[in-house]
Amino acid sequence: MRPFAYERASDAPEAVAALREHGAGATYLGGGTNLVDLMKLGVETPDTLIDVSRLPLAGVEERPDGGLRIGAAVRNSELAGHRAVRERYPLLSAALLSGASGQLRNLATVGGNLLQRTRCSYFQDVTKPCNKREPGSGCPAIEGDHRNLAIIGHSDACVATHPSDMAVAMVALDATVEVEGEGGTRTIPLRELHRLPGDEPQRDTVLEPGDLITAVELPPLAFGSRSSYRKVRDRASFSFAVLSVAAALDVADGVVRDCRLALGAVAHVPWRAARAEEELRGKPAGEESFAAAADAELEQARPLRDNAFKVPLARALIVRTLTELCDR
Ligand SMILES: Cc1cc2nc3c(=O)[nH]c(=O)nc-3n(C[C@H](O)[C@H](O)[C@H](O)COP(=O)(O)OP(=O)(O)OC[C@H]3O[C@@H](n4cnc5c(N)ncnc54)[C@H](O)[C@@H]3O)c2cc1C
Ligand code: SF4
Repeated sequence: MRPFAYERASDAPEAVAALREHGAGATYLGGGTNLVDLMKLGVETPDTLIDVSRLPLAGVEERPDGGLRIGAAVRNSELAGHRAVRERYPLLSAALLSGASGQLRNLATVGGNLLQRTRCSYFQDVTKPCNKREPGSGCPAIEGDHRNLAIIGHSDACVATHPSDMAVAMVALDATVEVEGEGGTRTIPLRELHRLPGDEPQRDTVLEPGDLITAVELPPLAFGSRSSYRKVRDRASFSFAVLSVAAALDVADGVVRDCRLALGAVAHVPWRAARAEEELRGKPAGEESFAAAADAELEQARPLRDNAFKVPLARALIVRTLTELCDR
């Protein structure tokens, strides 16, 4: 690993100013569970780390409207166990608990989790070309190992997926992200934070250099307690999703009044299944409608040579998850 300088800031504006002062070689450090691994592999080579994990952003606050404001430095394990999250947004608690391991969740922060990089094996191997790491060098995953990569929204330049479980649940919850940048504070709907690869796969998000995530806001969701997160993975624990579904369901008199659905490990972004939601509203709550909704979403899937299995898997996972929520 290359030598680097380490600094701590005392508040968010100071962190932003420190990063600006150090220039392009500086980056923020959250829990370090992704960044430090990538530094060891030579994928990330910052000369200065600005530690933002100890900023006064580690609280979960109740909002007057019943929503929650989650500081960017809140650790994943704390958020998963927070009473309001378990009671009002169980899909978020389940998504967090399905990720990584207890030790990693104790370190990982909300800000770092959202900005963790893809697990595409070529991205992590500096001896291989990769358009995300080195724009213009090529994408060996398209013809190579892509079993666990994207089926929706990918491009000729990149077929990677976003790895976070937490982000899938948060996208289903219409979360917004608060960002401190050069021009002050602004908010971005989480759904618009991550971007599809297009011909600029090196840009994971719409953030500008130096932007610091300071908080995530969850609006209230009246039917949030009837929600869940299901994750298919190759091992029972300590493993990224092969596919995941975050869902919340509001049923009255056997009819779907409202619903939230998002998919993980299908795209370069945590994928909000808006077409499925639209198809489902007003339909009888049952397997037939759930399957039709899944089909409406997955119609846009363009699987690669070795990951077509994800399409029927996503369909089955959506139907199963919604059916179980219906039976609650
Ligand atoms: C073995 C292993 C298994 C894992 N399994 C899973 C899994 O199953 N599911 C899952 O979702 N995740 C999994 N993870 C990933 C883990 O969740 C992430 O590494 C973690 O959430 C990243 O958070 P962090 O605070 O450690 O981020 P860091 O590693 O510190 O930072 C990640 C990125 O975010 C940037 N950053 C950090 N904080 C901020 C901020 N506030 N504002 C702007 N930029 C910031 C950093 O500069 C860096 O680019 C696994 C990781 C490992 C090592
Ligand atoms: S899929 Fe994306 S991250 Fe993976 S090798 Fe291709 S360009 Fe790189």
